[in-house]
Amino acid sequence: MNIHEYQGKDLLAKHGIAVPAGHAALSVEEAVAAAEKLPGPLYVVKAQIHAGGRGKGKFAELGPDAKGGVRLAQSVEEVRANAEEMLGNTLVTIQTGDAGKQVNRLYVTDGVDIDKEFYLSMLVDRASGRVAMVVSTEGGMDIEEVAHSAPEKIRTITIDPAQGFMPHHGRSVAFALQLTGDLNKQAQKLGKKLYEAFMAMDCEMLEINPLVVTKDEQLLVLDTKMSFDGNALMRHPDLAALRDETEEDPAEVEASKHDLAYIKLDGNIGCMVNGAGLAMATMDIIKLNGAFPANFLDVGGGATTEKVTAAFKIILADDAVEGILVNIFGGIMKCDVIAEGIVIAAKEVELDVPLVVRLEGTNVAKGKEILANSGLPIVPADDLGDAARKIVAQVKEAA
Ligand code: GDP
Ligand code: MG
Repeated sequence: MNIHEYQGKDLLAKHGIAVPAGHAALSVEEAVAAAEKLPGPLYVVKAQIHAGGRGKGKFAELGPDAKGGVRLAQSVEEVRANAEEMLGNTLVTIQTGDAGKQVNRLYVTDGVDIDKEFYLSMLVDRASGRVAMVVSTEGGMDIEEVAHSAPEKIRTITIDPAQGFMPHHGRSVAFALQLTGDLNKQAQKLGKKLYEAFMAMDCEMLEINPLVVTKDEQLLVLDTKMSFDGNALMRHPDLAALRDETEEDPAEVEASKHDLAYIKLDGNIGCMVNGAGLAMATMDIIKLNGAFPANFLDVGGGATTEKVTAAFKIILADDAVEGILVNIFGGIMKCDVIAEGIVIAAKEVELDVPLVVRLEGTNVAKGKEILANSGLPIVPADDLGDAARKIVAQVKEAA
């Protein structure tokens, strides 16, 4: 789960990490009120969307010469003018795709006099089983370019979670940033606090770009992107409450309401499967047969009629779907119960694309009988390979 910059900075501040003062705003008046609470004379007005690259982004409605999604303002009146221009308009950045994202919130912050811009991020590195801290002296808006042209300027420090963040990790961070004196000490402390915050909140990713050295020699977090491990959110109701559903894919939001694990993909064959491993295998075998899955969908162990119906609706709402493959293994669930659910759901949603169903497991004969007697044009399949071949052939035939 992703959150906005202002929420991320609030959380970091609670963990004792220095960020510029600022306030979120949903309207022009709130933006002005936010600026009035800040000392000035420099303010920054920042679009709050779940995507980076805002500084270099362009507003679709404002033409190529207008300023981007991060704007410096020299007075409260300038904050007002910028807020009027930004709110409600669509910001297109390298991370939003061509459609862009509508700006519904702003963050008005205290402007900072920047001396240097660094990069620092943390993520769970599955290969090493550690938390990786990635740092570079070349932070700011061109970090992607640095990664391509000068990868040696990016340093990775890994931390064993069993051991935690040791003093030598802090020294490595400060050294990689080429800091001396008091700034070196600040970097060591910051590294430790960031690691502790990352672990305490079960973060998946925490990116600070830029981390700046101010003209008065303070290390300050100027921008942050943060995401949390969805499986750990039940431990953090306060973090779960920060979710902004307007920033997420509507189909994925709908799926999560029904406790379905759904991820939209680019292909044309909708998949409904119980179990994540089986769902992965199903996607693989569709590809092996020359087609592409339209989604990943795990209905879970207890697939009720309601869940199956919701899953059908979500799959069919995707215009790219030209056929559906249902692959269910009846372990705890019985195949006849699943078959009944599929028949009821297929009738309710007025299925208009080919449907191949592969059932296996407890009461499979009864399940197949229910499908055969349903009067619906359901194509039964015997095993995974058979199912994939059949749905791919059906979709080709229908095209
Ligand atoms: P992003 O483009 O979405 O990553 O947004 P950032 O928050 O990183 O802002 C983009 C750039 O705006 C930064 O790299 C800075 O150069 C600049 N910027 C942001 N805040 C300030 C500020 O307080 N003072 C100054 N002088 N520049 C800022
Ligand atoms: Mg940034």
